[in-house]
Amino acid sequence: MVASDPETRHAGADAARTDGPLAGVPVLVKDNLCTVDYPTTCGSRILEGWTSPYDATVVKRLREAGAVVVGKGNMDEFAMGSSTEFSAYGPTRNPYDLARVPGGSSGGPAAAVAYGLVPVALGSDTGGSVRQPASFCGVFGLKPTYGRLSRYGLVAFGSSLDQVGIFARHAGDVALAYASLAGPDPFDATSRSGAAPDVSAWDASVEGLRFGWPANLWAEGVDPAIVDALKRAAAALERAGAVRVPMHFMPGTYGVAAYYLVATAEASSNLARFDGVRYGRRVSSGDLGALYTRTRSEGFGPEVQRRILLGTYALSAGYYDAYYLKAQRARTLIRREYAERFGHCDVMLMPASPTLPFRLGEKTDDPLAMYLSDVFTIGANLAGIPGLSVPMGLTREGLPVGVQLLGPEDAEPALLRAGRALEVGGDRARLARTHVTEFAWPTKR
Ligand code: GLN
Repeated sequence: MVASDPETRHAGADAARTDGPLAGVPVLVKDNLCTVDYPTTCGSRILEGWTSPYDATVVKRLREAGAVVVGKGNMDEFAMGSSTEFSAYGPTRNPYDLARVPGGSSGGPAAAVAYGLVPVALGSDTGGSVRQPASFCGVFGLKPTYGRLSRYGLVAFGSSLDQVGIFARHAGDVALAYASLAGPDPFDATSRSGAAPDVSAWDASVEGLRFGWPANLWAEGVDPAIVDALKRAAAALERAGAVRVPMHFMPGTYGVAAYYLVATAEASSNLARFDGVRYGRRVSSGDLGALYTRTRSEGFGPEVQRRILLGTYALSAGYYDAYYLKAQRARTLIRREYAERFGHCDVMLMPASPTLPFRLGEKTDDPLAMYLSDVFTIGANLAGIPGLSVPMGLTREGLPVGVQLLGPEDAEPALLRAGRALEVGGDRARLARTHVTEFAWPTKR
């Protein structure tokens, strides 16, 4: 079966149902999800022009639900980044302010939903790449529980952290896509067994739902507009009958460090397959060693090379115990800390990002500043738990601002209910009346 075979290329489209739950819905998928009918580049030169011979399971399920996959979304190369500026094909811009980034690494899908090009898009979230761009673009972004959406056909970055995620303008649309995609997949050994949680009651009341309020997290270093959004969100949840549980929570101290060791270690191993022999670009050379090195040094961009170097170092003999093993231990502690907190609340409210969308070029020369964009999102990946970014309107300057809800494993139904309550501002009467909120659309320029 090869991609150029017309039978194969149209197999996906032929499978589309006209009576499925997503019948006729145009969906964009991030360019690290394999599709038989479009090239899959991962935002990298090394895969330029490569087309997968098979569809990712989530793409297959989209088509089976009747959705029409209308294109691929731009991304930071191999999903490494927080701004989509590391795409080899140029950056994506924030539709609300073209001088600013849409977040990343799933900036393309997030911007497409914000701009109204598609109502639903898929991204991937290894350390926040769905939730942070969702927040920067003023849309919903769900990172499901690890293993709930199949990773088969998602080009691997950090396999123990990667999850396919969903962007949409409304909580109900996230729920609809989740219900069509979630569930075990025999092609993915890490997919969770058993049926995925039922999210059909996404608009049910949040009466009595306990939401954690770890205010110490935003005591410093968080943009005041985001703190304001958190307060508005808490007030709205309370109006809708949810109960605030103030708590002290400090999961972030070693989170960023642990994440950047685990993610780079796994990436250095996962990216070894791009060698100029098996996939994509080949820079021919007289001897095999030179073919490998020239293909990889010319095919991978600077951020990907930085990660491969970091990861290879962390895994090398003599350093393995000091770095990789220690990071895994920190990860276990972080997991436990989240589990302990969720003994006291059903969901937790926190920032999705410490900042509003930043300007293009602002952080590209400072990898550490870029890495700190993930301080509030990576915990969920390390712990394997679900998180939902919820848009909270625009700032006075017209920039989107959002908040994040986290929950324990399989808490997607509670996250969506709380997200829905925020969508309608906690107003039960309005909730009964409408399915549509008043989003300000980005201004056309
Ligand atoms: N920004 C983070 C990174 O660069 C997260 C990326 C992601 O979730 N794919 O690793």
